[in-house]
Amino acid sequence: MIEAKLHLDWRGNNLLHFLGSTKALPVIIIGDGIAGCATALALASLGNNISLLVLDDADPGSFKIGESLPAEARRILPYLHPNVLSQLEQDTFDGIHTKCTGTASAWGSSELQESFTIMNPFGSSWHLDRAGFDESLRSIVKSVCEKNKNNKLEKIKFTGVEKSKERWTVFAKDPGVEQQYQAKWLVDASGRKASLGRAIIKNDSLFATYAFFTSLTTDSDHRTLIESTETGWWYTSQLSNQTRVVVYHTDNRNPSSKQARKWGGFLDLLHGNTQHISDLLSGNDYQPVLDGNFPRGTPACSSYLEPPGDENQCWIAVGDAAMAFDPLSSQGMITAMKMGLVVARTISRNLKTEPQEVKDVTPSFKETFASVISDYERKKKYFYSQTQFSGEFWKKRS
Ligand SMILES: Cc1cc2nc3c(=O)[nH]c(=O)nc-3n(C[C@H](O)[C@H](O)[C@H](O)COP(=O)(O)OP(=O)(O)OC[C@H]3O[C@@H](n4cnc5c(N)ncnc54)[C@H](O)[C@@H]3O)c2cc1C
Repeated sequence: MIEAKLHLDWRGNNLLHFLGSTKALPVIIIGDGIAGCATALALASLGNNISLLVLDDADPGSFKIGESLPAEARRILPYLHPNVLSQLEQDTFDGIHTKCTGTASAWGSSELQESFTIMNPFGSSWHLDRAGFDESLRSIVKSVCEKNKNNKLEKIKFTGVEKSKERWTVFAKDPGVEQQYQAKWLVDASGRKASLGRAIIKNDSLFATYAFFTSLTTDSDHRTLIESTETGWWYTSQLSNQTRVVVYHTDNRNPSSKQARKWGGFLDLLHGNTQHISDLLSGNDYQPVLDGNFPRGTPACSSYLEPPGDENQCWIAVGDAAMAFDPLSSQGMITAMKMGLVVARTISRNLKTEPQEVKDVTPSFKETFASVISDYERKKKYFYSQTQFSGEFWKKRS
């Protein structure tokens, strides 16, 4: 039975307030980016028919930063769903994504050090159209979820939550309409906002500012080019349609961070402080895409959420909501996929729906989170200590 109430919001607008079925669903996933999709697909693939509801408010038409998908994804993607890799290859063939041929970085010295994907046993990596990739994952989730008539994917904004006894009440809002849902388990896959968890521990203040450049000439350089400077570091990747994204990372309080958020400042920093990226853009006659929305900034710091003490608390965070990484590591997407698999197994075990004959050797999510974070922190410290610079930005990190 569906109940509906009409009431006024704080602006005096009429709001239709729906209380969905009072029967609690086993699982609600908040956020349907890579982590949410990976969790939903993994839950479905466990074959236990766990009903789930996925809430997401993404706008697939707006640009999303975070485009380098390492070649190792070839090993992980088939675990999510057999169609994910073939869809990615097809979209790359159709020119939506581009192949990345390697990395060139001027980090420890001003000379470029190169690595080539031809030496990688997994093959070439990708520069994705991220919004497009996330949307194609969502359509696979949709096709899988439709097989269970109790599953639902809702385009709606999560707004709040309450816990009572054995269930969660989740509040969500579409313009003008509020919804309530009930669930036994909640998964926070809402990205860096960590809409559910919030108590994020930030361990630095890295901020990324990015802008686009386009060229009419053919640019044959499909590497990721990384360059460190006195106040931070830059990278550029070639996307489809002869467009490059150029990203500057520094501390959010560094004066250059503010300067980079205006086109004039961004271009001065880019051409004044980088050598290789500046030469590449000038050599290929790239022009800035002077769109009023760019340069755009976003936090890029590492942050972790303390995982809940035990599985009986029936909530868990995954992807950036649980642990967000410095973009230097290019490991955000892969980790979100892998952790989605761990989270699905944890929930399934807790709901006691795993087939009995499967011997569960998965470590607890707390152990897994802790080992991913300690490995990441060790590598991050190593990379930042290799700097050729001595500025405040580098001192703090090495
Ligand atoms: C500058 C920068 C560069 C990066 N570069 C790379 C890279 O090259 N390679 C890489 O692997 N990673 C990179 N990353 C990290 C990568 O983008 C993330 O790790 C990845 O997006 C995490 O996926 P996610 O699903 O956890 O979160 P997200 O991708 O942020 O997805 C969260 C989803 O939740 C939805 N959502 C949020 N709040 C709500 C709400 N209240 N209600 C409903 N829905 C909600 C959002 O709409 C979105 O669809 C980069 C990050 C930054 C900041």
